Amino acid sequence: MGTQGEQQVNEAGHLMIDGADAVELAHTYGTPLIAYDVSAIRQQIRRFKKVFERNQVDYAVSYASKAFATVGMFQLVNQEDAHIDVVSGGELYTAIKAGFPMEKVSFHGNNKSRAELEMAVDHHIGVVILDNFHEIELLSEILKEKQQTIKVMLRLTPGVSAHTHKYDQTGQEDSKFGFDIQSGQAQKALQQVLANSQLEMLGIHAHIGSQIFEVNGFVMAAQKLVDLAADWQKKFNFETRVLNIGGGFGIQYTKEDDPLAPEEFVDAIVKAVQKQVTLRQLKMPAIWIEPGRSIAGPAGYSLYTIGSRKEVPGIRPYVTVDGGMGDNIRPALYEAKYEAVLANQATAKPDETVRIAGKYCESGDILIQKQALPKSQPGDVLVIPATGAYGYSMAPNYNRNPRPAVVFVEKGKAQVIVKRESYEDLVKLDCSFV
Ligand SMILES: *Cc1c(COP(=O)(O)O)cnc(C)c1O
Repeated sequence: MGTQGEQQVNEAGHLMIDGADAVELAHTYGTPLIAYDVSAIRQQIRRFKKVFERNQVDYAVSYASKAFATVGMFQLVNQEDAHIDVVSGGELYTAIKAGFPMEKVSFHGNNKSRAELEMAVDHHIGVVILDNFHEIELLSEILKEKQQTIKVMLRLTPGVSAHTHKYDQTGQEDSKFGFDIQSGQAQKALQQVLANSQLEMLGIHAHIGSQIFEVNGFVMAAQKLVDLAADWQKKFNFETRVLNIGGGFGIQYTKEDDPLAPEEFVDAIVKAVQKQVTLRQLKMPAIWIEPGRSIAGPAGYSLYTIGSRKEVPGIRPYVTVDGGMGDNIRPALYEAKYEAVLANQATAKPDETVRIAGKYCESGDILIQKQALPKSQPGDVLVIPATGAYGYSMAPNYNRNPRPAVVFVEKGKAQVIVKRESYEDLVKLDCSFV
């Protein structure tokens, strides 16, 4: 059951993105272009929320904004009445600019600076998710100076490692994130937080990894967190009001990926928590989740114009597009796999297998190693679906290529949500050497 579904094609044989012709989008806004299917984003958030509502569980769906953090995206997420996670002062600033309700913001990160924590306190954000002892100290100092209080959660490493790429694992004990449960660090952190009346201890958090395709890891993490909550209830009379199980729900990039539906993940998590809570005779906490990739990813499409072509006799042709690792670094960074569609011949049978190369001066700048495509011409529009998460948000300016424009498309109507970077933008911060 894919979350990406079948691509829509119009009568001209062109790929459609939420009611708009992809070829027309490319011609109107230029390429490289990132286009989001807004209906798909709305639908995904609603699907996550609905499962909690059906189960009558208190919840928050908190969009992990690092997947794609811009003013327009925050406004869309707010329209759907979801929360957001931020991991930096920059993401928080973007949320402030978007007018996002600060009480629905959670602040993550394993090295939040004093300035970032001050910003969080000044703007009265919802929750700071404490990651380490240094941070507890810093935040305590700030709150003392400002005579304020703030809600906090503890980020824990439950000792669960997800079956995913090693860079995508975060829940194992030997991780840079969070307090380890096993060694007693987590309990020590709890005691420090409980001893400070300016820290309002809301609950516990774990994020086990990313691009996960099975429920086991979430179920195990949920059990461990509830067990810990029971232990802390007994020892410290501390009631865990929120159990935050993180994000990491996998999506479909290629036909080989077979992700679970949002409903399956959430149902499994809710059932696991309910079962363990009953067993441990605890009050049912609210359950929070933090999907990033699964909200922004499937909804995003990268549109490119095909340029040069290189034949390597006896091997395969290289087809080069006008973007690459500057708008999608994931293939170079993680060997991430994608599939492409020739947008102007979206239903045509493939004639050849090509390698899709980017225009950046790196041999590793290959978007797709092997792609079956109909015969293409320079000027054709090539589209890579499922690029909405960790694409634009990771985009570097390597080779001084401007970053692409981003449009939101909803029911056939498109609007620019991030302008294309100009050459002037590229030198904006440069200073003359005198
Ligand atoms: C990155 C991250 C997420 C989102 O992960 P996805 O794989 O994009 O769903 C959620 N929570 C935390 C703490 C994260 O670091």
